Amino acid sequence: MFQSVIVKLTAVCIMDCTYCYMFNQVDRTYTRVPRRMPLDTALRLLERICEHQPRGAAEPFSIVLHGGEPLLWPVACWSAFLDQVAQRRRDGWNLVVAVQTNLLRPLAPELQQLLRRHGVVLGISLDGPQAVNDAVRVDLRGRGTYDRVLANVRRLQDSGDGALIGGFLAVANPDLPPQAFLDWLRSLPVTKIDVLWPMEYHWRKPPWPLGGQGRYAAAPRYGQWFAELFGRWWALDDPTLQVRLFGNLLHLVLGGSGHVDVLVNDCYNMFVVNTDGRYEYPDYLRVAADGSAATPYTLEDTSLDSLSHDPLFARLLNLGAALPARCAACRHRALCGGGFLPGRSDAVRGISDRESVLCADQMYFFDAVANILHPALQKRGLHVSPAPRFAASASPAA
Ligand code: SF4
Repeated sequence: MFQSVIVKLTAVCIMDCTYCYMFNQVDRTYTRVPRRMPLDTALRLLERICEHQPRGAAEPFSIVLHGGEPLLWPVACWSAFLDQVAQRRRDGWNLVVAVQTNLLRPLAPELQQLLRRHGVVLGISLDGPQAVNDAVRVDLRGRGTYDRVLANVRRLQDSGDGALIGGFLAVANPDLPPQAFLDWLRSLPVTKIDVLWPMEYHWRKPPWPLGGQGRYAAAPRYGQWFAELFGRWWALDDPTLQVRLFGNLLHLVLGGSGHVDVLVNDCYNMFVVNTDGRYEYPDYLRVAADGSAATPYTLEDTSLDSLSHDPLFARLLNLGAALPARCAACRHRALCGGGFLPGRSDAVRGISDRESVLCADQMYFFDAVANILHPALQKRGLHVSPAPRFAASASPAA
């Protein structure tokens, strides 16, 4: 069953981030869809979700409002949509709404009030200290955005609505030393962050130069960066510095379960709806080619139950059944499951049968984490999960 949707409320943005997969990579879908989702389309989506999700389900259905920039959606539409979500909740549906925004503009007071009333939390994109962030996260005139975003975060806190800020979202940047990243995190007004693995690499665009795969595998750039970041974060032993990826990882290693981005990869139970009311595959497949996330289905003609039978969605919903051959014998298969989906994206088939192009990075990272956690847990007389999700190795790059 689907448990999550990314809703493209707008196909426009007030920023022009260099790496943006919506506007600045191969996919040009934004040129073919309405700039804003009509309210009726958003309400039709809510009906589709409630047809699919049983009332009283224990696990919530997550509605992530996205774009473009979702805060450019008219306030009247926000009001009507959130009122309908609240009504569905009163009728017994377990729904959670969140927003992913750049927060470049201050939140309009009316919208701020609406989000507070409906318990909607904001994830805010920010990529590191000012110089690092402003090299890539620029406005439409090419100007850095860091100061304005943080001013708007502080404005929310000063007005008593700091609880609306769920945390920050940053894209991994190996040019930024991990200690500098952690120092920056500590300096933020909210010390909660998620760090995304890169989405731009796949087998037709690997992270190594032509002929350099062997050299890259011996010293994988992203794996080394994440490994050092984890080691330094663990050594700090400071629970106020929350890195979502690491929290999820600890949960899984200690025997928890779940389907989270980047980890496990046995099931992708989410879909995307664009402003035109058309279903799309996860954004992670958008990087493979123009239109590679497109489907022939719309909210009007297809229920979510029917959508789950589409061959690629069926594969995504049961991704663990198609573990790449190389991964079957891997010591990290339960935690990694073939790797982060963009690294497996394929312009023709959606997902290739191969492991992620970042396999060496992921292997390095999980080895390093295992080599820290195993002795730490044993020292405390604790055990890893009865079905251990990974085994310690002799060297981080083995
Ligand atoms: S580390 Fe590599 S081989 Fe192991 S599961 Fe991940 S992608 Fe597959």
